[in-house]
Amino acid sequence: MFCKHCGKEIDDKAIVCPHCGVQVAKLPSQESKTNVLAIIGFIFSFFIPIVGLICSIIGRKNAAECGGNGHGLATAGLVISILWMVLGVLLVIIVSCAAAAL
Ligand SMILES: [Zn+2]
Repeated sequence: MFCKHCGKEIDDKAIVCPHCGVQVAKLPSQESKTNVLAIIGFIFSFFIPIVGLICSIIGRKNAAECGGNGHGLATAGLVISILWMVLGVLLVIIVSCAAAAL
């Protein structure tokens, strides 16, 4: 490829142009990675809240490394997981109260 700044031919894999020192490609760490755990956490939060909760917590931490990718999704997964677990606990309490009343 050719440097966008000075126009000289440089290596295709070059990140910084050796002629003028201008950055021509993104550094590997700057690439936006897909936050897989945030996606998994979000999906699981609907079916298996405890798995969704754990994946969402890790996904939220990973979001920083992924350039903020999946932060909102992981937060949503976290909230949904907690809501389902609260609902589950409430349901157990209601059912056990109802069973005791009988
Ligand atoms: Zn250059």
